[in-house]
Amino acid sequence: MNKYVIAGNWKMNNDLKESITLVSEIKTSLEKRENIDVILCPPFTSLETASALLKDSHIKLGAQNMHFEDSGAFTGEISAKMLKSVGCEYVILGHSERRTIFNETDEVINKKIKKALSENLKVIFCIGETLEEREKGITNSILEKQLKNGLQDITSSQMDELIVAYEPVWAIGTGKTASPQQAEEAHNFIRSIISEIFSDFIAESTIIQYGGSVKPDNAKELMGQDNINGALVGGACLKSKSFVEIINAVN
Ligand code: PEP
Repeated sequence: MNKYVIAGNWKMNNDLKESITLVSEIKTSLEKRENIDVILCPPFTSLETASALLKDSHIKLGAQNMHFEDSGAFTGEISAKMLKSVGCEYVILGHSERRTIFNETDEVINKKIKKALSENLKVIFCIGETLEEREKGITNSILEKQLKNGLQDITSSQMDELIVAYEPVWAIGTGKTASPQQAEEAHNFIRSIISEIFSDFIAESTIIQYGGSVKPDNAKELMGQDNINGALVGGACLKSKSFVEIINAVN
């Protein structure tokens, strides 16, 4: 597959003014490349403004989370419809920070994925093992469990609208990156599970991003692996220079 998707997860960073600056800088310094999709995922408070700024650009907009219900007494939550209404095309679901800090289970993540897809919101579905799990040698069984539980009741046609992001928890925000070989091995395994759940065809056409301390200096080698089709970038997406350098590192 010669297609790449690079997404920037801003996390809880940038107020409205800072968001306007970052979106504008990325917009002016990024050249459109046919085989690369770029997605920005600012905080909820900046989505509508970012959407207006990105209106005539090829850069897409995503949110970092949502609730699985449509509306109601869920103080502090945001629905898929609300995200659509401010111009979001994507939503990140199952991020390890949501799983660990906010106790999101595979079951909750599955409900969110089903709701997002039913509302025509594309999903970046994050999975990944902790350091302890890697050291115990259970990385593959963790990835398999997260994938099978998260994708329960998802149809083959819905898989067109879903990206998997492999994010080893020990590499997120730590400066430690999985080696290109470690990442490739995990991506290959993830593809084999997608093939088992759906088909070889779906497995081959699913975008699998790598996430975990992706930087301009390691992006090229990571993106050069056969089964890596893009990146989910945290820290390095907060500066337009490093984010654009990561995108430009893709061959
Ligand atoms: C992330 O939060 O998805 C992420 C990969 O963060 P970082 O690039 O900072 O490791």
